[in-house]
Order: sequence, then C-alpha cells, then structure tokens
Amino acid sequence: MNNNKMIPLSVPNLSLDILENVKETIETGWVSTGGRFITEFEEKIAKYVGVEKAVSCQSGTAGLHLALRVLGIESGDEVIVPTVTFIVAVNPVRYMGAESVFMDCDDTLNMDMDKLEEFLENECDFINGKVINKKTNRVIKAVIVVHVFGNPANIEKLMEIKEKYNLKVIEDATEALGSYYLEGKYAGKHCGTIGDIGVYSFNANKIITTGGGGMVVSNNKELLDRVAFLGVQAKTNPLYFIHDEVGYNYRMSNIQAAFGVDQIDRLEGFIETKIRNYNLYKEAIENIEGLRLLPFRADTRANHWFYSVIVDKEKYGIDRDELLRKLNDNNIKTRPLWGLIHRQKPYIENQAYKIEKAYYYEENLINVPCSSNLSEEDVEIVIENLRSYKE
Ligand SMILES: *Cc1c(COP(=O)(O)O)cnc(C)c1O
Repeated sequence: MNNNKMIPLSVPNLSLDILENVKETIETGWVSTGGRFITEFEEKIAKYVGVEKAVSCQSGTAGLHLALRVLGIESGDEVIVPTVTFIVAVNPVRYMGAESVFMDCDDTLNMDMDKLEEFLENECDFINGKVINKKTNRVIKAVIVVHVFGNPANIEKLMEIKEKYNLKVIEDATEALGSYYLEGKYAGKHCGTIGDIGVYSFNANKIITTGGGGMVVSNNKELLDRVAFLGVQAKTNPLYFIHDEVGYNYRMSNIQAAFGVDQIDRLEGFIETKIRNYNLYKEAIENIEGLRLLPFRADTRANHWFYSVIVDKEKYGIDRDELLRKLNDNNIKTRPLWGLIHRQKPYIENQAYKIEKAYYYEENLINVPCSSNLSEEDVEIVIENLRSYKE
C-alpha cells in the first residue's frame, strides 16, 4: 500500500491570524523581552490553568533550570527523576551541579510512585527533616515528575510522599498543558499547578507552540517573583545596572508571545481533535491482534498529546523496529520511546533504582501521528498501514 503523502508525527497548528500580532511587534519595535503580548500570554496561561500568576521564559528547559535554582537545589544535592522522559527534564539538574537518581515508570509511563516510596523508605535515611541517600550520602532535595505524553502522573501519591519526606516537587508539565484531574483530592486542578513549581513548553512539537518558549507557574508568589527576577539577569537596580546575584537571559520574547496569545485560544479545540483521533485509532487498533493503544487515565481529562502503540511481536508477526521502519518508509512518521536516560552517556554512572517496566516500553512502543491538524482521512491511512503489516 503506497502512501505518497507524508503524514508527520506532530507538527504545529498555526493560524495566519498570528501575522496581525507579529506585524504589531514590528511596527511598535517591541520584539525583545518586553511588550504587551508577554504580559497577555502570561495572564492567559495563568487563567487557563487556574493559578494567579505565570512567568514566561525562553524554553521549557530554561523554566526547569530556573525552577531548580529558586527551589534551592545546589551543587552536591540529589534530585529524583524519571528514566522515561525526554532528557531535557534531567539535564538542568546537572546544570546546577546536582545529580539525578533515576526511577522506573508504571503502566501509565509516568514515575512509579510506589517504587519511589519504597526507595525513600529502604534506601534513604530521614534525619532532621532531610532525606539522605544511604548509598551516596548526599541530600535528596526534590523530585521532578514528568506527565509523560500528557497523561497525568499519580500526583496525589507524590504529594503525600512530598509531605512525609519534606521534598520539593517540580512538575514537568511541558507535554501536559490542558491535562487536569477529574477525581480525588486534586479534582479540577491542572497538571503543573499542584507541586511547588510547574513548567510548560511551547516548542514546535508541543500541543501549542510559540516556536520555542516556556512558562513557569506556582502557587507561591515569592518563588515566581524569583523566577522572573533571575530570568532577566537579576537586575537589583535596573537603572544603574546593579546585580547582587548571577541571573540568566531566559525571558520569552514579545514575538514568541505574539504566537502564544493566539495559540492558547485554540488549545481546547486542539484537544478535541486529539481526543477524536485517539478514539478513531482506539476502535481500529482494538481489532488488530498484537497491537495495543495505551490508555490515558480515565479519572483525568488528559490532553492526549502523544499516542502510544505497543507492539506484541509474537501476535503481530513483526517486531517494533520493523514496524517503525515500514511506516517511516511509507511516509508515515513514527518514533520509538526515548532512549532511557539512566543509560545515556552523561548519566551512566548515576544511581537507578530497580528499573524494570521502562525497558519493556523502551523496546515495544511506537508513537503514531497525532498532530492536532491531522484529518480523519490521514488517521485512516495510518490505521490501514497498521493492519496491512500484520503477519
Ligand atoms: C519538550 C519537553 C521539555 C522542554 O522542552 P523545551 O524544548 O526546552 O521547551 C522538557 N521536558 C520534556 C519531558 C519535554 O517533552
């Protein structure tokens, strides 16, 4: 079955209406890290996710770096992170001179909170309000949780653990803008707004995009003020250029925000399309022996950012890698799960706690096309291909 039209994995869904905004940035000269679109975009995001204030930055990575900095992560500290993630969630720990300890995933692909608790109980001492890693003797100060592919992590359990062990929680919600909990203690709360600090990303493959960019949210206004302060070079006195601390050039530009104010208004529509397409895949894949579409948590409204298909080689006839190759050769862009981070070169020496499930998903998962401008016809083409390769 020859498919001539390229079907991308995940591409931006941009409106030419944005040109009006961009025109304004050019006409007014507000193209850098000041201007009305920045404020407007920050206010819109804050309102959308239900917090008082949001602070924009250049990227999700920059946001995570600032989060670690304002939460007081220092050289020699440790931070618990998932091994199933884009590496960007982990690198900023190293930027701070701190080290990561890697956790396994559960069947939602998110951090296994039972294992996390087990690790803290058995492998750490809790002395004077501090978690000490028995193996390394270092202080563990924080947990970075990633809501993988927009599927909300078990935040209720994590927040209990946080209270018990006096840890900071950073929510990497870069993939989960628009996802929120429907049940439990945090019903109605958006991913990113529950821990100490949350970070969103507007990179081109995310659910909305500003070309590149990020947003930091928190219920702690002091922390956010610090994020804003450090993100523009820590100007203690901007007129006389006095700096009492080392800051960063991490602020979002008005041009990026000019995209953002338009994109955020379309987010709910994008999520609708993503859920519609997900359900089309689901119906079809249920009838293809050897393939399984990973569910999003039913007790949440997930944004359905990325769709994951698990390939059972025995039943499907070909293995994951052959399926990947066949689809990509036929112009249908698919990808495997990220390489696990605890096995990547910069982190090979780091501690990893009982990694098991992550290996299975690393080996058997593919992400199939999921853009918010993917038509039903294109989904049908992908499905036809998935059917046709079964042996
Ligand atoms: C996209 C992403 C980020 C941030 O990416 P930026 O490109 O820096 O905005 C961080 N963590 C995860 C898991 C991501 O997918």
